[in-house]
Amino acid sequence: MRNVVVVGSGCAGNTAAIYAARANLTPLVISGNEPGGQLSLTTAVENFPGFPEGIQGPTLVENIKQQALNFGAEYLSGAVLEADLSKRPFRLNVEGEWIEAKALIIASGASARWLGLESEKKLIGHGVSSCATCDGFFYRGKKIMVVGGGDSAMEEANFLTHFGSEVAVVHRREQFRASHIMVERAKQNPKIKFLLNTVVEEVFDVEKGYVTGVRLRNVRTGEITNREVDGFFLAIGHIPNTAPYRGQIELDAEGYIVSKGGARTSVEGVFHAGDVQDRVYRQAITAAAAGCSAAIEAERYLQSVQA
Ligand code: NAP
Repeated sequence: MRNVVVVGSGCAGNTAAIYAARANLTPLVISGNEPGGQLSLTTAVENFPGFPEGIQGPTLVENIKQQALNFGAEYLSGAVLEADLSKRPFRLNVEGEWIEAKALIIASGASARWLGLESEKKLIGHGVSSCATCDGFFYRGKKIMVVGGGDSAMEEANFLTHFGSEVAVVHRREQFRASHIMVERAKQNPKIKFLLNTVVEEVFDVEKGYVTGVRLRNVRTGEITNREVDGFFLAIGHIPNTAPYRGQIELDAEGYIVSKGGARTSVEGVFHAGDVQDRVYRQAITAAAAGCSAAIEAERYLQSVQA
């Protein structure tokens, strides 16, 4: 039986582990399917306070983990397959082994949705990105492409015009999912060009190890074209990693945890941290802050039930 189990080892989970470990709670962190979370998929991070020269994303998240280990946090690799939050202690099935916890911090994140191309996967962090805020800065004066037709795609395309010489928005349909105002704002931006009814079939150049262009197909005409691109940004949505908790804590229509104030969820003793609840900011620093809040609340909760 653990005092605190933290699910997820990204910025939020590892920060929660530092705080919980320093409160002598010996937290157990379950690393999850994507150890290190979104930071492990990026290269340089230049907006995390405290690193004037920037820091590599994987190094940053590994450092936070090391800091948690130094204070006595323990790590278990594997993913939560099933959870029972209906009674105390909470029970989690981690790869077949059941673990009991007095308090639970869910920091399992939201995974970016990718197109699923092999070439895209190989070039993540080398021109392929799912975070304009994180990586836009690296494409000053370069050709940028954004895939998606939702509000994120419009927002990111506008944001990326601060850096790129041009931003091409590729959307698979004619109609946008994005709100009218966001589409209009993007349309009025002279640097943004729309490629509608178009899908990306290939990202070049895996051989070179960085993005040089894409192959596009117009789904109406079947026409195939190649286009030079330096930065390739996906904005086709995120999938919160909450499947084991469905039906047990309150989730919104898209599966994000509904916050009940602070880090609280609809189940007392279960707390949220990071992108699993936050669909708005999704930054390493906001996830770290959320991890801190969740650990402080978990500590207070444990004190209250033990009193
Ligand atoms: P979204 O609204 O779900 O839009 C995803 C877009 O990606 C859709 O246009 C979809 O195309 C496309 N897409 C999905 N899978 C694809 C695939 N495999 N290949 C090609 N295209 C694909 O996601 P989002 O834009 O991230 O927004 C999420 C939520 O946050 C929304 O509620 C949004 O309003 C909100 N948000 C608001 C703001 C704001 O107000 N400032 C900013 C960002 C996000 P289809 O349209 O064809 O399905």
